[in-house]
Amino acid sequence: VRGLPKSFQFLVKALEALPTIGRKSALRLAFHIVLNNPHHGVRVAHAIEEALSHLTRCRRCRGLSEDELCPLCSDPLRERDQLCLVESGKEIYLIEESGGYQGLYFVLDQLDEEVISQLKTTIEENGTREIIFALTPSIQSEGTMLYIEELLKESGIRFSRIAQGVPTGVDLENIDALSLSRALKDRVPR
Ligand SMILES: [Zn+2]
Repeated sequence: VRGLPKSFQFLVKALEALPTIGRKSALRLAFHIVLNNPHHGVRVAHAIEEALSHLTRCRRCRGLSEDELCPLCSDPLRERDQLCLVESGKEIYLIEESGGYQGLYFVLDQLDEEVISQLKTTIEENGTREIIFALTPSIQSEGTMLYIEELLKESGIRFSRIAQGVPTGVDLENIDALSLSRALKDRVPR
């Protein structure tokens, strides 16, 4: 952009690369941080640095954690034989907020060798007997479910998915807690 200082353009580019932030928002945020409220900017930068240096993936569920195991995986009161497969770490907290689930989780954000081998280890360590797919309904997630079922068909694990009260193409993030809780409760066998 002509007329904007280099370091400012660098900031705008970095903000713009974040999900849900378009060019206009990036510009607005950058001006806010630099000119209107530099203190706020420093606080955000510090919070990001702190989060990045303290947070990692849980060894067992690949969700967010400050330790080797997250609070959910190390909670002795969770039902260890149920494993809910979600697409990203944030979905764990959406389901937790819905309050309709007592089992454990696994974040299946990609289908590569490392994640698959981690899934197998987690199933073994937890003693999983049922896998509940809580994936956003799509052609791609259908493929993922078939793949996982095929992969684990010798294991004797039961498979289910959250009920189709969840509309096709709608991100789990945009579903209210009651619908999400019901969808989990009314899950159907596959
Ligand atoms: Zn965990």
